[in-house]
Amino acid sequence: MLLKPPVNVLNIQRMSTEDGPGLRTTLFLKGCNLRCAWCHNPESIDARPVVQWNKVRCIGCRSCNDVCQNGALRLTERGIFIAAENCSLCLDCVEECPSGSLNVKGEDFEVEKLFTELLKDRAYFGEDGGVTISGGEPLLQPEAVTWLLEALKKTGINTALDTAGLVNTDLFLRALQHADLLLYDIKLMDDAEHRRHTGGGNARILDNLVKAAPFLKESGKRLWIRTPVIPGATDSKENIRAIAVFLAGPVGDAVERWELCAFNNLCLHKYESLGRDWAYKDTALVTDQAMNELLLLAASELKSSGIELHGTGSTRSTSTSEE
Ligand code: SF4
Ligand code: SF4
Repeated sequence: MLLKPPVNVLNIQRMSTEDGPGLRTTLFLKGCNLRCAWCHNPESIDARPVVQWNKVRCIGCRSCNDVCQNGALRLTERGIFIAAENCSLCLDCVEECPSGSLNVKGEDFEVEKLFTELLKDRAYFGEDGGVTISGGEPLLQPEAVTWLLEALKKTGINTALDTAGLVNTDLFLRALQHADLLLYDIKLMDDAEHRRHTGGGNARILDNLVKAAPFLKESGKRLWIRTPVIPGATDSKENIRAIAVFLAGPVGDAVERWELCAFNNLCLHKYESLGRDWAYKDTALVTDQAMNELLLLAASELKSSGIELHGTGSTRSTSTSEE
């Protein structure tokens, strides 16, 4: 019997159209075992709750700076800096702030309560929509995630699991039994490059997908692969070609769709609110020409595999970039 520990939730995002088919509710869990340099959800990395600062609301009164007994919070020229490693989550600063500029991201939910919360949204799921469990890395909380997926499926709700795949194989395959769709990231095929840009190797990630593919195929479950196109990291032709060859090969029969997701910097404010620097803060969008070239290359490698290829996200026009 599965244990049901509390679930560490970052956010419940309703009416989402980006995490699977139809209108969905996406449950973002906290905690991740990768450290992708371009991460778009930095507040999800730490498994613990984190204190976030809202620049727009802040009136610069320094009350938070004065009340923190742990030296975790300081007011700098660029705003409030919070050193998460020193923060005891006493929440004195949150209570003291007169403008509501500080709040906590992350909350423990009883899994049954979370299930009840997700059920409230079924009115808009329709035929295609449903619930997607994402993160962070959701399978760092495997018992709760598996229980939730199973409970949702039993009520007839379409389920999707969004994982980076650097997880225990048995726990991954067990959770998959209750998912209608697997959203799976493949970022880099070169192991050394994967380690350099994400902090972890890719052998387990690729191996888990190879092991899951026959089951996905036989059971008629859907598999969507996503590759973030990150300038200077994942956007080389060699990398995209290598991923295409892998997808058209050992797992190809199971793959329905491959998305190349163009980099964006919409998450910059999240880094600012956490008082963290971001290596990609000055990085420009991928040009439309570069994106099209990668898509053409990917299409030619996929050949007649039957895998649908999609480019997503905003790009900048080549003419603008040349001005
Ligand atoms: S929660 Fe407590 S320890 Fe953390 S920054 Fe605020 S006052 Fe300091
Ligand atoms: S207490 Fe609130 S308003 Fe005052 S400086 Fe800190 S975050 Fe800004």
